[in-house]
Amino acid sequence: MNAPPAQPLLGIEQALERVLAAIVALPHEVVALADAHGRALAQTVQADADVPAFDRSAMDGIALRAEDGAQGAIVSQVGESAAGSPFLGALLPGQCVRVMTGGVVPPGATAVLPVERIERLDGDRYRLLEAARPEQNIARRGSEVHQGAVVLQPGVRLHGARVGVLATYGRDRVQVARRPVVAMLPTGNEIVPVGATPGLGQVRDANRHALTGLLLAAGAVVQQQPVAADARAALTKAVTEAWRDADVLVTSGGVSAGDYDLVPPVLQSLGATLHFHKIAIKPGKPLLFATRQHGGRTQYAFGLPGNPVSAYVCCALFVLPAIAALQGAPAGWQLLTLPSAGPLPATGPRAEILPATLLQLAGQTHANVQNFTSSADLTRFAQADWLAWRPAHSQQVLTGAPVLLLASPRP
Ligand code: AMP
Ligand code: MG
Repeated sequence: MNAPPAQPLLGIEQALERVLAAIVALPHEVVALADAHGRALAQTVQADADVPAFDRSAMDGIALRAEDGAQGAIVSQVGESAAGSPFLGALLPGQCVRVMTGGVVPPGATAVLPVERIERLDGDRYRLLEAARPEQNIARRGSEVHQGAVVLQPGVRLHGARVGVLATYGRDRVQVARRPVVAMLPTGNEIVPVGATPGLGQVRDANRHALTGLLLAAGAVVQQQPVAADARAALTKAVTEAWRDADVLVTSGGVSAGDYDLVPPVLQSLGATLHFHKIAIKPGKPLLFATRQHGGRTQYAFGLPGNPVSAYVCCALFVLPAIAALQGAPAGWQLLTLPSAGPLPATGPRAEILPATLLQLAGQTHANVQNFTSSADLTRFAQADWLAWRPAHSQQVLTGAPVLLLASPRP
């Protein structure tokens, strides 16, 4: 009798869709601006005032009426407007006011001529070395942003410049998504702490640290759990504790087809629904994704393979988008296309995620994609700065033909 044909594995795009479809965004909270760095904004922010809020000089020089500004004309200074100390009068014909960068341009002035373009004569008189052009070097009130305009949309990540925008518009408190709480639970009898010298058959806990770095950068709070042993009772207890208060459980190891791969049955025994287990990816095929309803909310579990490159790739491709979606932020993969620095072989039924570096060839940036070696070799993987994505069933790529890179994150 013939064996039934094997079911094709779930493709990686479908797997990401399933993850994102299961996500329920977390509630919001209000934080001080100083605590907003790296958070996902959860409100629309409008300008509370025009910017600039006054007619502002872009140069150190003199403010004058453009019609008085013919080359060679002479104007007399009637005051000074430094940043923060405006000149309070108005300009009459033939007059000018000394202005500094950021100073208020006085009413009546329609040009600022920089210091390099004027010559100081006796007393307070200046000769113009160049004609003044109307509106030259004046940023008019509201010319950057009008009061009421939307300056930040919900979901954006608050990196430096955006925090500066919040400050510009007076938001000293800001509504953001709550940080997802991730329980980090490596499994495996052979896993020892980083400070230990491994005995025969033991390995140091690389996954905990590599994955934690990725998760923190994505805005998660990571709760470290002790390594769980490969025994049903011990793993059940460890998962019960780790998942109790966390939004997301991340395990590593114990999820493939070995005799001690107990993560799937333990999750199911604790009320989890498996959305997928094993997908068409290399490395990372054993990946598992599950959810459960617990204490009135949805909780998520990612069972990552133990091999360090597999765990890392699966975290980057699936856990990080989930962390973003939980915060209401854009969660899809961002891809770049670059010419390949060399030929690449055809791929099989699984998508391949490969380390890559950038290379300049004939003045053009190319992707130097490594061939797959091992899902265990984190050291070699970590030498690359980029991840390349070769779709399943791709034809071979010739030098110079396009390849896809994941724009973030990097190894
Ligand atoms: P497993 O998926 O549990 O069969 O583990 C696959 C391989 O990954 C084995 O060689 C493990 O020793 C290794 N491994 C599992 N967990 C970790 C970890 N936390 N850090 C480094 N290597 C690990
Ligand atoms: Mg194991």
